[in-house]
Amino acid sequence: MKRFPTWDELVQADSREIARAIAPGGLANNKAPRLQQILKVIRDQEGEFSLNRLGEVSRDEAYAYLTSLPGVGTKTAACVWAFGFDKPALPVDTHVGRVLIRLGLFDTSDPVKIQKALEEAAPSEIQKDLHILLIEFGRRFCTKRKPKCAECPLAAECNYRTRGETQ
Ligand code: SF4
Repeated sequence: MKRFPTWDELVQADSREIARAIAPGGLANNKAPRLQQILKVIRDQEGEFSLNRLGEVSRDEAYAYLTSLPGVGTKTAACVWAFGFDKPALPVDTHVGRVLIRLGLFDTSDPVKIQKALEEAAPSEIQKDLHILLIEFGRRFCTKRKPKCAECPLAAECNYRTRGETQ
């Protein structure tokens, strides 16, 4: 936002400059041109650089629109819904998915299916907080490599640990 204060400036910028500005977030060379593509589609379809219209539609409708944008998947759509619109959503990224699968709550590793099932099952008022807690839990305890099972408050419930796996 500091480097490109308006959407117009971002759309017109050299994508290599955008990549430099967002480098700390990772995958910058992919994300930079995608940001510009997405903005152009939104401008062409909405007549402005705004998604405010989505605030009035259902979650399913919003997800359908958002995932039609270049490079936007279900997790990103849920993040926009939760954090952009402050609506109930439970984005499932690799960390959230890993924790839930290890706990034995899902027999699929497909994050889209996991997210759909969770968003249908979890009370709407806790979905965003649960997403944040699961990410934090995945970082503190259920790390990708060498999860800290000995310190884990959910160890007694965990399938992964019961199976004696260490990775
Ligand atoms: S016991 Fe280990 S694998 Fe299971 S949830 Fe806790 S940290 Fe993850």
